[in-house]
Amino acid sequence: MLIGLNQNSELIYAQHAKSQEIYKCPECLSELILKKGKHMVTHFAHKANSYCMRNSYKKESLMHLASKHHIYSHLNNKVTIDMEYYLPEIDQIPDIIINRNLIVEFQYSSISLDLLMDRTEGFKALNMKVIWIGKDIDYRNGIMHLSYFEAALINHCERTLITYNPNNQMLIRYERIQSLDKHTFIGFKKEIKWEDLLNSYHVQDVPNLYLSDRAYDNYLSKCRKSRNVLEPTLSLLYNARLIHKKRLQIIGVIVPEQIYFLTHCITWQSYLFYEMEKRTFTFEKFYNFIEFRTFHDYSFSKKEILLKALNSYISIIHQKAISRANLII
Ligand SMILES: [Zn+2]
Repeated sequence: MLIGLNQNSELIYAQHAKSQEIYKCPECLSELILKKGKHMVTHFAHKANSYCMRNSYKKESLMHLASKHHIYSHLNNKVTIDMEYYLPEIDQIPDIIINRNLIVEFQYSSISLDLLMDRTEGFKALNMKVIWIGKDIDYRNGIMHLSYFEAALINHCERTLITYNPNNQMLIRYERIQSLDKHTFIGFKKEIKWEDLLNSYHVQDVPNLYLSDRAYDNYLSKCRKSRNVLEPTLSLLYNARLIHKKRLQIIGVIVPEQIYFLTHCITWQSYLFYEMEKRTFTFEKFYNFIEFRTFHDYSFSKKEILLKALNSYISIIHQKAISRANLII
């Protein structure tokens, strides 16, 4: 932790603490140890075997402490900023609160998605907005590789993901994120400043994408390798009698709403084709077929998203048909 109480019961930033004075934890009032070192941010620690909530709430790594220190020292005096401020209504201690309504949480280690959603809900219940900041991600040639946890940190309304690296002090915002499959995303990397967190981000349109034939074939061979006769994509293509045929041009469209699905676009579009051909399609069945992704903020209607995705898909395949018709003429 970076904040302690001095003997006059004032909150003191660890950077300004004096080695000869005694500081106490604002929560449990036990005496704290001041830790200073060349290669670390000056901070307070509880003595071993402390049962204090502040000690057990979050295991703070040095990276975590350094990140809090960086944002705090940068924005202090520019905005109202509270660090490690206990919110009794929801029993949480967010890293940073800006202007009493914007929370910044650094979450470098994976926690359960349920816990991530619960904490987000707690902040929202207090009418506070929360920005989750993750650690550096695997990003090469415009492609982001994310674990389920990292993907859950995405702000799905803005289609952004924010990461920070306290070693090189790079705060990055990945923008216009679109998902290709469970762990692969497209995104545009942009370095931003701490102040940029205060301004709302202007959401931009996400382009529709179309899988190349190579990507289509790659996905099918990945499905074949799973050696599962019940593999849904292959069974669907088989039942629709498409498995040995040339790829249908209407399968492999990535609609903007794909980011909300774990189900691959080839899979759900084969499903649609099959059900439409058989004339057995119902929205309810389709809804149950789709597997949704988990985000920290889950306040969206899955049914609405799915309906939007269907509309996007229909309008795209119409446009494709039109452009092909034009070509033929
Ligand atoms: Zn304590």
